[in-house]
Amino acid sequence: MSQAQSPIEVRIPEIQAPPHPEWPALSAAEERDLKDRIKALLKRNNATLVAHYYTDARLQALADETGGCVADSLEMARFGAEHEAQTLVVCGVRFMGETAKILNPEKRILMPDLNATCSLDEGCPADPFSAFCDAHPDHTVVVYANTSAAVKARADWMVTSGIALPIVEHLAGRGEKILWAPDKHLGHYIQRVTGAEMTLWPGACVVHEEFKSVALERLRRLHPDAAVLVHPESPAHVIDQADVVGSTTKLIKAVGAMKNPEFIVATDKGIFYKMQQTAPDKRLLEAPTGGEGATCQTCAHCPWMGMNALQNLAACLETGEPEIQVDPATARQAVRSVQRMLDFAQEHGIGMKGKGNA
Ligand code: SF4
Repeated sequence: MSQAQSPIEVRIPEIQAPPHPEWPALSAAEERDLKDRIKALLKRNNATLVAHYYTDARLQALADETGGCVADSLEMARFGAEHEAQTLVVCGVRFMGETAKILNPEKRILMPDLNATCSLDEGCPADPFSAFCDAHPDHTVVVYANTSAAVKARADWMVTSGIALPIVEHLAGRGEKILWAPDKHLGHYIQRVTGAEMTLWPGACVVHEEFKSVALERLRRLHPDAAVLVHPESPAHVIDQADVVGSTTKLIKAVGAMKNPEFIVATDKGIFYKMQQTAPDKRLLEAPTGGEGATCQTCAHCPWMGMNALQNLAACLETGEPEIQVDPATARQAVRSVQRMLDFAQEHGIGMKGKGNA
């Protein structure tokens, strides 16, 4: 089995990462007051916080402290669906808020900033994606979570990085050919590991694409005891140097489980908060985004994730805006691909408490 050529040429929009938002510095007293205000507003609104590992450490700490959830996108989706709160406040990027709305149409989903999007989502517009699917009618359509509601509505399966491998293995085992979107690096990695026949949409994450293999080789030589942890949205020549490849949850667990005193981490550096909490005695090093040919637009931190801060979190809880809306007909279509993944996870014990999210 191999990576197949598409019979149509796919052109994707060129995505420029925005500059990193600059938030005014807060004094210790201001930060404490803001956190207290957010805690009171969460109670008053019967709301819970759901934060991604790539967001600011203060938001992750607040989600932890208030009984919310800090997680990867698989666990964020599941937590939001199972929690009794009527309002979910999603600190992350837009597709995460949309997924929460798709799974919980009766709940109010707030986000600090709806401009927080994702280069993978932006690089896979619904109409050309639909044409791509039409050109491959004999393929099972599997899309990554980092897509719009309209793209999920066109898919047979939605997957996160924590569950993509077992689902593709399962489909390939049934002899199905797979149309994969939007991340070409993750798709290529899955194809290499599973041997599935996959046709790939050519999207990429602007953050992970900046990790550089030559500079990583140099850093490894300087830190021979370090283990290299790589998220599979990274380019193949970076993945090739990894000791562990996997979802954010898998990489966090590796820091706790492995004996190495140091880790070189190739994913958004927001993850350091949870890694350091898991293993306070370990040293974490950012995988290089510099070196030959470097552009360092993002420097290992997603500018869209950076649009979430204490200030706009407080404002959104105070005003009830912005709220995520998904067209109900699109949501009814999209929920099938999302629910299929959650059912598969449940059936196979993947990412469930204590079982590990591969
Ligand atoms: S880190 Fe990459 S994949 Fe994740 S939200 Fe940012 S642009 Fe999207």
